Amino acid sequence: MSQLIRCKNCDQIFMKGPFDKSPEYRFDSGHLPENFQSVERDDFKDFLFLHRGHQLENLSIIEDSYVSDKAYSEPVKTSFLKATNGREEFVIKKSRERIDEPLKYELVSGDYRLKCISVVIQSEEIEKQLRKELNFSLSQDKIDAFLKLMGALAEDIAIEDLERIPEASPHPLEVYYRMDDVRVMYLLRNCRHIFEGQEYSAIEEFIHRHKDDGVLLLKAIHKIQISQKARTRKRATPPLPFAKEEIFGQK
Ligand SMILES: [Zn+2]
Repeated sequence: MSQLIRCKNCDQIFMKGPFDKSPEYRFDSGHLPENFQSVERDDFKDFLFLHRGHQLENLSIIEDSYVSDKAYSEPVKTSFLKATNGREEFVIKKSRERIDEPLKYELVSGDYRLKCISVVIQSEEIEKQLRKELNFSLSQDKIDAFLKLMGALAEDIAIEDLERIPEASPHPLEVYYRMDDVRVMYLLRNCRHIFEGQEYSAIEEFIHRHKDDGVLLLKAIHKIQISQKARTRKRATPPLPFAKEEIFGQK
């Protein structure tokens, strides 16, 4: 279990996790494996030593506050999260520039929020799935008509009215939503103008199969909106402000 610690005097952050005691391998001389030395590292001990006599406090991470412009699986990236000591909220920047560097945690002033910039359908995935699952081949015209109909549904949609599918996305700026029943009904009704007979039945089943967790989920694309916020409280070391170039996501 990771634990976030803040030095109130220096405004510095330490993430005490399962890795702060990992050994570091140092290479001495020559190229023989026995020359590799394992050096026990205890970063937390170093932090405590550096901040001896200072006031330390535990921060708890605010749920769902994590944002980043890169996929969860990407190891080299900058991300942000929020934490609180119960009275005050803090914005923390987590970063590393190389894969072999430890993660760096810093307090930054200002705030961020995710803003939805568009809602799109998963056109490629839908087409691929239609071709894979239907045991007869649909004409390209019909596939295009279906995609156009789906696309029209996603236009001007307010995601606040839709149900979010948690953890369906590998990317923090792409969030998946389930179409509501009214839109599913509209889709089915309009499919009658495109498909008939066994085609319609197959499409109807396809819609029911994929509307809740499959290719028919709508994808909401977000950007990270950063706002500068002046902190009035006097600090020994004021937190770093958000840099201008740290505006992420699609413009
Ligand atoms: Zn300190």
